[in-house]
Parts: sequence; C-alpha cells; structure tokens
Amino acid sequence: FACLSIYLLMAQTSVAETEELREARQAADAANQAKSQFLANMSHEIRTPINAISGMNEMILRQELPAEVRKYASNIKSATAALLTIINEILDFSKIESGHMEIVPTDYQLAQVLREVGTLVGVRAHAKNLAFKIHVDPYLPNGLYGDAGRLRQILINLLNNAIKYTPSGSVTLDISGQRSASTLRLRAAVTDTGIGIREEDRARLFHVFERLDIKRNCQIEGTGLGLAITHRLLNMMKGTIQVDSTYGEGSTFTIELPQEVHSFDPIGVFNLNA
Ligand code: ADP
Repeated sequence: FACLSIYLLMAQTSVAETEELREARQAADAANQAKSQFLANMSHEIRTPINAISGMNEMILRQELPAEVRKYASNIKSATAALLTIINEILDFSKIESGHMEIVPTDYQLAQVLREVGTLVGVRAHAKNLAFKIHVDPYLPNGLYGDAGRLRQILINLLNNAIKYTPSGSVTLDISGQRSASTLRLRAAVTDTGIGIREEDRARLFHVFERLDIKRNCQIEGTGLGLAITHRLLNMMKGTIQVDSTYGEGSTFTIELPQEVHSFDPIGVFNLNA
C-alpha cells in the first residue's frame, strides 16, 4: 500500500509538473505573440509618416535648389530609405514570428524577376564602382509558379549584402537549376569579392540581430535581421541556403528553391536591359 501511495504521489506530481510546464509554455507563446503583434502595429504606424516625409522630400528634390539645400534633401532621402528598410525588416520579422507571413504563389516569368532585381541592385553596385553581372543558364524554363515577391526579396537581400560588404571588385548573380518532371530546383548563387566571413562565425550568420565582426564593419549600416528573414522565408518555401567564404577574399551565398514549371519555354540569353 505504501508503495502504491508513493507511486500515486509521484504520478500526481509529474502530471502537475507537465501541466505547469504546459501553462508556462502557453504563457511564453502568448507573450511572444503579443510582442510580435506590438512590433507589427508599431512598424505599420511608423511607416505612414516616413512615407509622407519621403514623398514630400521627393517633391522638394524636383525643384531648382541651391547646391547645399539639395545636399541636405539628398541626405534626407537616404536616411528615410534606410529607416524604411529597417521598419520593413521588423515588420516582416514579426509577421514571420507571429505566424502571419503568408507565401503567395502565382505564375511569373523568371526573366522579369531577374530584370527587376538586376536593375535595382545594379544602380547600387555601380554607385560603389563594383562590377555587377548576372549569368543565367539559357535552358532554364521561364514560366514558373511560386512566390515571385519573396524570391525577389531574398535575391535583393543577398545582393545588397554582397554590395555592402564588398569594398572593391565585383558582385555576381548566377542562376541555374535542376528540373525533374514539372518541378525546378532553382539555384541562385551570389558571389562577392568582399570582406568574407570567418569559419567560426558562419553558424551565427542567420541568428536574429546578429552582426558579425562589429569592429570591422561598424561603419556599414544594418540591423542583423536580413539573413534571419531570408533563412525563415526559405524554410517556409522548402528552400535551403548555404554559405562558402574565405575570410578577407569574399563569399558565396547559394539558395535552392523548388518552383513549379508552368511553361517549358527556355529563358534564352538573358539580357538585363531587354
Ligand atoms: P545586416 O543588416 O547587418 O547586413 P544580415 O542579417 O543581412 O544583417 O547579415 C548579418 C551579418 O552577416 C552582417 O552584419 C555581416 O556581418 C554578415 N554578412 C552578411 N552578408 C555578408 C557578406 N556578403 N560578406 C560578409 N559578411 C556578410
């Protein structure tokens, strides 16, 4: 009887413990959700006035201005753009964390996405005197089905990083893929001749708010959210990301992403300005 009582007591204690644990976990989840919701609401509220500042500043920039005033207005332009990037990253991150981020697949043309990405990123690369090239396997199918917006965001993020962390040289985007039946495993490799990443730092690259080597890149603006978002988006889309790097020489970030093939017409020779 004594044994049975002890056994029952132990069983009760462990039930109480698991219930306690469950409650604690639920409370932590609820707190996390509330935090993400708060960040999402706040980011949304902040975005509206920043957009207004940016719009009005654009109107000022269209006027005839004394050189000094134009310089101030240009500074406002880059500061508001940087602020919007940060806000958008916080918004995206809190959406992912609170489970509100949706992947929305549609039919899209791969060449069109690459042209949009290339045009935007090309301007930044040239402003920094970096050579920028896009190589595309001409036999890749052009008509795909997937979330083109998120693919664009991931490519822009990796390319912007490549430009940010490359003082001189080049940034290249290589697009290839492997097709089996009507699925294309799209591969995009972003290679730079930049500062590189130490072997021991690589595991931390995708952590939230992680900025490596702060002493070395403290002048380079960033939140440490971009790669965390990229990694989570790729997980949501059953994609992968891999990093190869030589410290001091450069890095290659390679993503692979399954996309449905909706038209087998090959993309052909890719021309950014076509
Ligand atoms: P950040 O906003 O700081 O650029 P990310 O999440 O995009 O945030 O990147 C995290 C960190 O990884 C960066 O702060 C930088 O230290 C490192 N990193 C990212 N891309 C590169 C790259 N192409 N070359 C060297 N370091 C990089």
